[in-house]
Amino acid sequence: MGCGKWEEFAAILGYAVLSSVIDRWRWTKLGLGDFVVSSARSIIDEYILPSSNMQTRWSSLAPIKVNVLAWRLAINKLATKVHLYNRGRVVPSILCGVCDYGIESTDHLFFGCSLAVDLMLEVGRWWRLDIPTIGSFLSWHMLFESLRRKKNY
Ligand SMILES: [Zn+2]
Repeated sequence: MGCGKWEEFAAILGYAVLSSVIDRWRWTKLGLGDFVVSSARSIIDEYILPSSNMQTRWSSLAPIKVNVLAWRLAINKLATKVHLYNRGRVVPSILCGVCDYGIESTDHLFFGCSLAVDLMLEVGRWWRLDIPTIGSFLSWHMLFESLRRKKNY
């Protein structure tokens, strides 16, 4: 730090007012000073957890890991190659590891990849259902919701 910078720094510090209170930790989220778990949770909810206007649906019939996978799929937060690349991770290729053709996004892996499409056709044949070709989670979600509405009438 040059001499001019030091004088500038000292001048800025000259405006600082220090209190005589002993140093201590202070939680300032709500401005009360004391740490409260609920305020920490609200910070996590507000700044870290992804938000979505899509209602989370948990199935008691499916294992928790399946529910978590479906939730992460719904909010597009699965660790696909595209997401890893976008986060700055070194990814040798963003092409799908299954077909080596499409870009490995959530929609491709679950709805666009030839393996996913073939698997969906086989499940449809097995259950004797006419499952339409779906290209994205949003399309699947809309189809699923329309089926739920029909069932409730
Ligand atoms: Zn693929």
